[in-house]
Amino acid sequence: MIAHAPSHHPAYTKGMSSSEPSIFSKIVSREIPANIVMENDRLIAFWDIAPKAPVHLLVVPKTQEYANVAELAAGDPQLLAELVGMAQELANEHANGEFRLVFNSGATAGQTVFHVHAHVLTGGLDEGSLGG
Ligand code: 5GP
Repeated sequence: MIAHAPSHHPAYTKGMSSSEPSIFSKIVSREIPANIVMENDRLIAFWDIAPKAPVHLLVVPKTQEYANVAELAAGDPQLLAELVGMAQELANEHANGEFRLVFNSGATAGQTVFHVHAHVLTGGLDEGSLGG
């Protein structure tokens, strides 16, 4: 018998080109450094390397199985809810509890890392600063 990888294996998941670890998976495994501010068994949060707001954090599922937020919502809605909860906790800790949550989905929408992640932007945003 030939052993088959489970259907949820990253290599078999639409959106991920291979099971090569993403840049964020390398942060999860400590292969590359990041300024990590929060972590649990399923999520990690760290400062964005090129901040676009006074507080600019990324919240990232540890699994790279989902390339974007729509895939995450369809595949594991509970994990998406946990991600939103962590964003709130971060905004409470690093600002006044208010925040903007951005998921770029697709290259023409500005996505550069195809391992789902939320941008948590806070700390004093200008009204009308969305987009660019
Ligand atoms: P996207 O453009 O895919 O929505 O967001 C990717 C984000 O990841 C960008 O805001 C970029 O600055 C950030 N980023 C890319 N590489 C690294 C890295 O190695 N470390 C950290 N902390 N952030 C990164």
